Amino acid sequence: MSFLKKISSMFLGSGTSDDGSAHREYVRCSRCGEKLVTRVDLRNELTPMYDEGEGAYYARKAVFGSGATRCFQMVEVEIYFDTQRQLVSRYVTGGEFITRDEYEAEDELRAAE
Ligand SMILES: [Zn+2]
Repeated sequence: MSFLKKISSMFLGSGTSDDGSAHREYVRCSRCGEKLVTRVDLRNELTPMYDEGEGAYYARKAVFGSGATRCFQMVEVEIYFDTQRQLVSRYVTGGEFITRDEYEAEDELRAAE
């Protein structure tokens, strides 16, 4: 019983302290142009790299569209971090990186129409 309680409090904890522990990447699907966001949990989703590589930690995320564009292409994001969990380099397959401003821009346009 107490074990279950512990698990639920862990989930609650990670949900409330979101900003400091999460890295977001914004991408645009190369096929349909849909803008997508993926979130990397810096405490739970990083893979330590002990061999030669570009960083100390590595994360790979598969990003799928909402389905609204009838495009089901997977956009794959690979991100490398240093020991301070700062971004070192990043790669995207099936799309391109965009800024947060670009990601949010279209919503403003839609609202204005
Ligand atoms: Zn797409």
